[in-house]
Amino acid sequence: MDALLDNALNLVRRASKSLDLDKRFPGQSLSQRLEVPDKIIAFRLAVQRDDGSIKVFMGYRVQHSDALGIYKGGIRFNPDVDLDMVKALALLMTLKTAVVNIPYGGAKGGVPVNPSDLSVTETERLVRKYVHRLVNDIGPNIDVPAPDMGTSEREMAWFYDEYRKHRDIARGVVTGKPIDLGGSLGRTQATGRGVVCVMLDAARDLNLRDYKVAIQGFGKVGSHAARKLFEEGITVVAVGDITGSIANRHGIDVPALVEYVARTGGVKGFAEAEPIEDVLTAPCDVLLPCALENAIHEDNATKIQARLIVEGANGPTTPAADAILQDAGVVVAPDILANAGGVIVSYFEWVQNREGFYWEEDDVNARLFALLRKAYVDVRDYALKHKSSLREAAYQMAVEKICHAMMARGVQ
Ligand code: NAD
Repeated sequence: MDALLDNALNLVRRASKSLDLDKRFPGQSLSQRLEVPDKIIAFRLAVQRDDGSIKVFMGYRVQHSDALGIYKGGIRFNPDVDLDMVKALALLMTLKTAVVNIPYGGAKGGVPVNPSDLSVTETERLVRKYVHRLVNDIGPNIDVPAPDMGTSEREMAWFYDEYRKHRDIARGVVTGKPIDLGGSLGRTQATGRGVVCVMLDAARDLNLRDYKVAIQGFGKVGSHAARKLFEEGITVVAVGDITGSIANRHGIDVPALVEYVARTGGVKGFAEAEPIEDVLTAPCDVLLPCALENAIHEDNATKIQARLIVEGANGPTTPAADAILQDAGVVVAPDILANAGGVIVSYFEWVQNREGFYWEEDDVNARLFALLRKAYVDVRDYALKHKSSLREAAYQMAVEKICHAMMARGVQ
């Protein structure tokens, strides 16, 4: 089994055990109902290449749970995508929407493909075929996808347009759309800004002052987190991505780095910083892993210098690393809380689509930060009360809430 799925299932099992679900709700099999997705959709995608040949891909959509609301979750285009990964990410979505109190369930989709192997027209055909296959399983009141790794507002625009050919009420079928097609102001930046919002509150609770931040990943999450930190006057001392890691102990000029990465494709070679071996183990007070799953593992966890880790990526810390960090007194703000900013503003986008009334960016941000701050305080207080880690607290709160909804609804 995929490590990400194994880890997520183990965390749910541990939360179910701590909550004593089997004793409190005898015979209800709540833990198993959470472990097994509501629906798994796997399908063939035959796509015509520009030279006329046909390439066959697999496509997946896993609808994990709609106990708390309609299915919601991104679509990943990445060569590592497989069914287990999509199952794991769908489960994380169910937990995430529960923790931040938005009226959604969880889902995820994906295609095992390297987006850079496809031309723009081939990518468009792939997206349209994906929608065509799923048209009866998605919809503004059923299941609402969004961007994830390897997809962006460009793919969401094609997604909306293809769905619009089949159904008349279509805007809310997908979020993360371009603004002109009903996207929300602040959606692109939301996950990164949300990571920083959670970081500020957690750092305050730890009494960290004049702290220095390192960021792994400079994509949609990491680069917007870096910009927000720069705006807040907080020093970013190290950044890493797939091309390498760089550091400047006096602070990285984030706008200059954004411009450099847009031009060159990665942080490697940025002149106003030194190359370093690994951003994860760079000297810093706060670490934001915003790149990929299982980045922090038992071999590098002992070398981490940060006192606070805020997980921008999904599943960046393995359970073994989590235990090492906990023993070392490092506080970890977990993914299902810390990176929920994207799905929160996706929810706002969906609400605006339904209202046909669009909000100013300041309103979007104010509502985003209010929801995240409340979720952080809830999780922190639960952790203090139950003497648990923030991760255990977030998982237990989410599982409890979902189980209550399942019990209230009956046999689901
Ligand atoms: P992205 O593709 O825009 O950026 C990924 C970044 O990670 C890039 O800078 C890339 O160079 C870097 N990277 C990839 N492999 C690496 C490696 N081996 N070592 C170091 N760096 C590496 O993706 P994204 O949307 O920023 O997503 C990043 C993570 O955040 C994923 O786990 C994703 O599921 C999660 N996430 C994203 C959103 C969102 O709104 N985009 C929301 C919640 C969670």
